[in-house]
Amino acid sequence: MATKPAGIPDGIQHYYGGALHDSVSGGVFDVLEPTTNEPYVTAAAGDKADIDRAVAAAKHAFDHGPWPRMLPRERATILYRIADEVAKINDELAAVESYDSGLPIRQAKGQANRAAENFRFFADLIVAQVDQAFKMPGRQINYVNRKPLGVAGLITPWNTPFMQESWKLAPALASGCTVVLKPAEFTPVSANLWVDIMERAGVPDGVFNIVYGYGATAGDALVKHPDATLISFTGSLATGKTVYANGASNMKHLSLELGGKSPAIIFDDADFDKALDSTLFGVFSLNGERCTASSRILVQRTIYDRFVAAYAERAEKIVVGPPSDPVTEIAALVHPEHYDKVTSYIEIGKQEARLVTGGGRPSHLPVGNYVEPTVFADVAPDARIFQEEIFGPVVAITPFDTEDEAIALANDVEYGLAAYVWTSDVARAHNVAGAIESGMVWINSHNVRDLRTPFGGVKGSGLGHEGGYRSLDFYSVQQSIHVTLGDVHTTRFGATGYSENDLGLGGPSA
Ligand code: NAD
Repeated sequence: MATKPAGIPDGIQHYYGGALHDSVSGGVFDVLEPTTNEPYVTAAAGDKADIDRAVAAAKHAFDHGPWPRMLPRERATILYRIADEVAKINDELAAVESYDSGLPIRQAKGQANRAAENFRFFADLIVAQVDQAFKMPGRQINYVNRKPLGVAGLITPWNTPFMQESWKLAPALASGCTVVLKPAEFTPVSANLWVDIMERAGVPDGVFNIVYGYGATAGDALVKHPDATLISFTGSLATGKTVYANGASNMKHLSLELGGKSPAIIFDDADFDKALDSTLFGVFSLNGERCTASSRILVQRTIYDRFVAAYAERAEKIVVGPPSDPVTEIAALVHPEHYDKVTSYIEIGKQEARLVTGGGRPSHLPVGNYVEPTVFADVAPDARIFQEEIFGPVVAITPFDTEDEAIALANDVEYGLAAYVWTSDVARAHNVAGAIESGMVWINSHNVRDLRTPFGGVKGSGLGHEGGYRSLDFYSVQQSIHVTLGDVHTTRFGATGYSENDLGLGGPSA
């Protein structure tokens, strides 16, 4: 086993009401190190009793504490302090994240700076927030009274976990909500860093709370808790459906960021080398454990054979190795359960399509969750490896002839998160982008994104879009206040002599 980074405690406890706690039941679970699958930390295994306490602390802070009542500028000042604290631990976080999740160290670097940027961004937005007012001269003025929604339940996945958590924590806290975070059970270790960060930044007790544990126990209890007004969930489609159903009984406000099976469409007039570089990175970065991975590559038949050959040649040269080695490009998958899932899809793929390269464990890495970069070609649209999210270093390449066929193939899946279009024809780029059923499309590029833009999927990739002011809207109530400026025209029920014109049901707009 690689050397454990400094600062990882032997045991991880829940944190709520400003204090650390063991599970009420005393339960713990093991966290595994992905290059050996040996346990190296135990984390408190929360269930309903722990969620009840954490939500109670968050509700108390929301109902009675200063956080929701602070001026936006005051909250923003603390968010900036959180950002500074996060940025300070950039190297420590990279080491922890890489060790805990198997992310190659080179790709783990910079995660803290990105997370810090999320806090600075939402701090700026909340200060600049403007709400609308609508005036009907002489009659009525209406304005929007923005209020934080309440206790926010935040449920996050294990891929780039710290960054994912920051994407929810920052807008929730900026909006004035108090939060209960339930991080993924495979990767609780970096989440534990938030406790010190929040304390050092001066976040009042009860505003930030965290409960570790499994989805079926801790996650489920958070979704079903009547005092958790909203749930912001990122994870798989299957779990998303369960969360959706379970949220119904309490009319939860829900944001669901789910999986993807995103197409990259490469036309024969594209910049071949740039498309090649980008689709290799799009599939194999972050170990392929990336929600926006371009895991289906659709290539125009005129360049198909050349592309498949060039893609496979490069994929074979990708360096698979330990997460801590700076030359590693693909490291160990997060957990043996996930390794089993990915390798079982590779076996399915061998029955369904042409295996071009990869297809199993690299021979020089006999232990740990290592998978070769795996390329399947000639993948039919009804193949499971074309339809289902694998979430590992596995790609399906499929040829097409016409623009219409490319669009049809791109849309022929349950998901609709991201898409990538490669062509030098400007009109075609825009037309194809517009015809693809996905929340986000990148033209001749990948995954670089302005935080102000909408982020989210359509179809099975999720409900609701976050990003920019959309995130603040999700964590807020926009209450409409109507004030009469002139005489109140009330239909005088029980009095005599009112006309049809006095019915007062609505009225003209300004
Ligand atoms: P998952 O659905 O298994 O788990 C996600 C979280 O939900 C975990 O914290 C888990 O404990 C919790 N959970 C599980 N069952 C639950 C239940 N019944 N009630 C409440 N919570 C429950 O997903 P994962 O394997 O951790 O993450 C990978 C998935 O996340 C992939 O599908 C990936 O595409 C998706 N993802 C999406 C985005 C996005 O922005 N759209 C970003 C990252 C990851």
